[in-house]
Amino acid sequence: MISNKENFITMKELECKCCGEEYHDKTSFEMINNARNIAGIPFIINSGHRCKSNNIKSNGANKSSHLKIAFDIAFKNNKDRLIIISALIRAGFKRIGVYKNKKIIHADNILENPYPSFWVK
Ligand SMILES: [Zn+2]
Repeated sequence: MISNKENFITMKELECKCCGEEYHDKTSFEMINNARNIAGIPFIINSGHRCKSNNIKSNGANKSSHLKIAFDIAFKNNKDRLIIISALIRAGFKRIGVYKNKKIIHADNILENPYPSFWVK
């Protein structure tokens, strides 16, 4: 949930959901907040950092970017999907995935995974 007046995304929203483990990366933290400001709508982060066991539980890929830091942003409708994706691109994200059934947009900038990349699942 959005945690303060300015609607900035906090570290708390990005920590591992199972154990609270945090992953600190100033650049991506600033980028996701920049994207949110460009979008002008709240970003609900369904998944940020995941520890190894949470990544397995979440059926994450072996080398999932979530093991470092990635952002799964919930979207409500096609309008919000456009707003979020265009804001992510403007903020500099170069790895973006749309998961239609889960209604999330994934974004990260982890160079060890295919880069740049846009995928739809
Ligand atoms: Zn965990």
